[in-house]
Amino acid sequence: MRIFTTVNALKRAVDNEISAQKIVGLVPTMGALHDGHLSLVKLALSQCDFVVISIFVNPTQFNEKQDFASYPRTPDSDLALLENSGCHAVFLPDYETIYPQPDHTVYDFGDLELLFEGKFRPGHFKGVAMVVRRFFEIVRPHKAYFGLKDFQQVMVVKAMVKQFNLPVEIIGAPTVRESDGLAMSSRNRLLNPSERSKASLISKVLKGIQERIIIEDVEDVLNWAVNKFNEDKDFDLEYISIANAENLKPINTKNAAKHAVALIAARLGKVRLIDNLQLY
Ligand code: AMP
Repeated sequence: MRIFTTVNALKRAVDNEISAQKIVGLVPTMGALHDGHLSLVKLALSQCDFVVISIFVNPTQFNEKQDFASYPRTPDSDLALLENSGCHAVFLPDYETIYPQPDHTVYDFGDLELLFEGKFRPGHFKGVAMVVRRFFEIVRPHKAYFGLKDFQQVMVVKAMVKQFNLPVEIIGAPTVRESDGLAMSSRNRLLNPSERSKASLISKVLKGIQERIIIEDVEDVLNWAVNKFNEDKDFDLEYISIANAENLKPINTKNAAKHAVALIAARLGKVRLIDNLQLY
C-alpha cells in the first residue's frame, strides 16, 4: 500500500495504471474508518485493478464549526485497517492540496438542495460536491464508491457527475450495521454509553416503517414513528419522511412511487445521526 500526500505523486501513480489499461477505483472517506468504509474498499477491490482511498476531513461540508472540531480523527488505526484491506493507495492531502484556490463553481442539485440534509445542513452538499469533484480531477477514477447510508449524498454526487459530464461511474453500496441495527458511522464514537444503547431506535423505527407501510397509510406510519422518538426526550428528531427513492420528493400515499425510502435524522445529545431504509 502506497501513501500519497501530494497531487503530483498520486497523479503519476494513477497515470501508470491508466496507461496499462487498468481500472481505477476511488473510495472517498473522512477517516475514523469502520466496517462500513471497509465494505466499500472490498467492493472496489472486487471491481477495480487499482484502488485509492482518500482520507480528508473536509471543512467545507461541515455547516457547524463544533461538528468539524469534534469529528473523530484516528489516523494510525485507519492506516492499519487499510494496510490489511489490500487497497493499493491512500491519499492523505492537506487543506491547501485540495483547495489551492477558492472554488466559485455554481453547483446545481435541483430540489435535492432544499430537502432533508440539504435543508437542515445549508451548504453541506456544495462542500461535498467541491471535494468529490476535486478528488475526481486528481485521481480520475473509472468507478467511485459511496455508501447508501448517505442516500441523498449519492444522489447529489450523481447530479454533480451529470452536471459536469464526468467520465466516472458512481456506485452506491449497502449500509453496514452494528449487531443492534445501528448504521455504522464515524460519529457513533462520540456517543456516550447510554446514548449508544439508545441509538438503535433509529434503525428499529426504520424497520417498523418498512413493516407497517405494507398495511397502513403513510400518515399513520409516520405518526407512529414520530411518537417513538417523542417517547425519549434524549432524541431531538430533525426529520422523518417517506420519499420517492428516485427524486426524494416526500410521498403521502403508498404506491405514489415505484420505489420509496424512509429517511431519518435525529440528534442524540450532541451527536447528529442519519439513516435510511429502502421500503419497496
Ligand atoms: P464518511 O467517512 O462518513 O464521509 O464516509 C465515507 C463513505 O463511506 C461515504 O460514501 C459513506 O456513505 C460511506 N459509509 C459511511 N458509513 C457507512 C456504512 N455504515 N455502511 C456503508 N457505507 C458507509
